[in-house]
Amino acid sequence: MRTKQLRIPGPTPLPPQARQAAGRQMINHRGKEFTELYSRLEAKMKKFFQTKNDILFLTCSGTGGMEAAIVNLFSPGDMVIVASIGYFGDRFSKIAKDFGLSVTDIRKEDGQALMPEDITAAMKRTPDAKAVLLTHNETSTGVTNDLAKLAPVVKKMGKLLIVDAISSVPAIELKTDLWGADVVIAGSQKAFMAPPGLAVISVSPAAWEAHRYAKLPRHYFDFTEYRKFAEKKVTPATPAVSALLALDASTGMLLKRGLRNEFARHKKLAADFRKTAKKAGFTLFADEKFASSAVTSVMLPGELAGKTGDFITLLRDKYGIEVAPGQSALQGKIFRVGHMGFVTSKEMEQAAKALVKALRHFTSSIPPTI
Ligand SMILES: *Cc1c(COP(=O)(O)O)cnc(C)c1O
Repeated sequence: MRTKQLRIPGPTPLPPQARQAAGRQMINHRGKEFTELYSRLEAKMKKFFQTKNDILFLTCSGTGGMEAAIVNLFSPGDMVIVASIGYFGDRFSKIAKDFGLSVTDIRKEDGQALMPEDITAAMKRTPDAKAVLLTHNETSTGVTNDLAKLAPVVKKMGKLLIVDAISSVPAIELKTDLWGADVVIAGSQKAFMAPPGLAVISVSPAAWEAHRYAKLPRHYFDFTEYRKFAEKKVTPATPAVSALLALDASTGMLLKRGLRNEFARHKKLAADFRKTAKKAGFTLFADEKFASSAVTSVMLPGELAGKTGDFITLLRDKYGIEVAPGQSALQGKIFRVGHMGFVTSKEMEQAAKALVKALRHFTSSIPPTI
């Protein structure tokens, strides 16, 4: 069956306005129309990030943005703390190590969130760490870290705070300036409901100061170049023009809906979906206190644990609902349902119903009332 709903946590479905914008004829990436587009997007991004910090647009996937944060702020051998709660946090740690940083790892069990004391303990072990790197919304487990509580611990110690917010902004609130996040990385293809191809990054004055002394080699991602070109409202190299045009359209829509409404809408979509899934006998993987409003990780009822792969395939082939499997150690154990961006409560109800119908193929123990 054709996919009726792409319910993976990115790339997410595009609204018609974004699809139309992405299909537009090319424009000169040094011309007036582009500089106007750039200025508009820059101003809008400051609203989504809740920041006065500089905003940079990198043409790359989210991972490129993570790499850019590292090569622009550090020198070989610099100490950093990477606090991971899953696959994408592990990726941050791996990138830092690949570039020769000395990494103190915090690793929470999959499904759990970071606690302020986890960070305090790591800072005691590594008092010379320059920065703490962490994930706002861990897409591999469906857990959102409580940044409002974690950030002050990092700030009190005078460390830089670098946040992978690739699957949170703008579905889940991130108060960049209030919480003191020095570098925040978002991606175009998740909650922004635009095509893949852009990492959007905010850089604080403290991060710019660190950048001045950072000696890791870099070229394509050099923030200095980006800042220089940003003064003229362009990028150093040819950007993903179509993705920027689409992002302009989708962010226009999001701002019209209102940021606050969007956070609340995602919360409700997630809560309603979790409720139905639980009623049908699924087990939720993430600690519910920290369950993400952007993606939900689900386990089949205990006795069916080995059938997760078959379930995902059936859901797609028979019901047209495409969900994502678990990653690394969670492969075969969970599946992940994306509900960020361009998705309605009606669609989520349909998806939840399809999940229940698919489950009935594997067990007869689901109450008929669901
Ligand atoms: C998707 C995602 C990434 C990786 O982004 P790519 O665009 O696939 O490189 C990193 N971190 C988080 C939290 C993500 O959700």
